Amino acid sequence: MRMDMLVRDINVFNSYFKRFIKGNAAIKDGKFYYIGERELDAFEPERIVDGQGKYMVPGLIDIHLHIESTMVTPATFSYGLIKNGVTTIVPEPHEMANVFGISGVKEMIKASEDCVADMFYAIPSSVPATSMETTGGSIEIDDIDELMQTEDIICLGEIMNYYEVITDPDCKTNKILSHIRSRYPDLIIEGHVPKLLDLDLQKIINAGINSDHTHQTVEGMDARIAAGMFIEIQEKSMTEEVIDYLKENQVDEHFCFVTDDVMTDSFQNRGHLNVLLKKAVQMGMTRKKPFMHAPIHLHSGCGCMIAAPLHLEKQQISCCYRTWKHLKLNKYTKKVN
Ligand SMILES: [Zn+2]
Repeated sequence: MRMDMLVRDINVFNSYFKRFIKGNAAIKDGKFYYIGERELDAFEPERIVDGQGKYMVPGLIDIHLHIESTMVTPATFSYGLIKNGVTTIVPEPHEMANVFGISGVKEMIKASEDCVADMFYAIPSSVPATSMETTGGSIEIDDIDELMQTEDIICLGEIMNYYEVITDPDCKTNKILSHIRSRYPDLIIEGHVPKLLDLDLQKIINAGINSDHTHQTVEGMDARIAAGMFIEIQEKSMTEEVIDYLKENQVDEHFCFVTDDVMTDSFQNRGHLNVLLKKAVQMGMTRKKPFMHAPIHLHSGCGCMIAAPLHLEKQQISCCYRTWKHLKLNKYTKKVN
């Protein structure tokens, strides 16, 4: 059987079993056709790559970030992502909306269409973030309705003015939340709710806000998970106490790692979501956890689990197993084992 490429002698991360399995990968028409023990006995590849026992990890997915923080275009950003093993992202173009309103959001989506990484967008929910800000643009309910017609929209981005949500029933954000709940009841609503606990936190959850990506403490994570909230762990939340909590409790379905804001020099010199994975391993996470919570491969059990908060479907998501262009063999994962 003719194949475009055969990668021999690799350790492939199987995210159903959550472990690496030694074997070969055959690629045909830009897709992974076969992963297993068969090789030249079954395939006639145009190209053979010696994997030298390296580790193949599915494409990582970052479900919350702002491309503007890195100050590059989506196309440039996506090349940097692929270099670091990230194949799919969910950007929230908050700053673009702050300046240009809905036209800025639309231009960002348009600029992402032919990028090498796949991008699904969050609608900026809080533009301006408070009633005291005087931004160039704003996002109103009509804008949200218009953006919801775009197939690349996957959620409502972080609700930033949480204080108004819990104190002022008539504020703009509560009107947006009420509109979303009635018109798009399945749409995921991301949150930005630092330090909220107890009744205030549960007021936020009752308003329909599903997640929090701000700085986390053990007490805060406990309260959020207990109340059904999903937690997005940024690098600044990766303290010893937080990582120990995530290691020691059965909370795998309730958190993932995200980058949120990555400065240009850090993107260039350190990397992206992969940096958080390496750090998690260095901080003692078991070999399976960092890859479960990148999140990863949507054809996998854990990938689906992590993608579930954003309702990502298998067919919507690319991963390194979908296209060989995204294939990157990693050395650092040896440390995981
Ligand atoms: Zn953010």
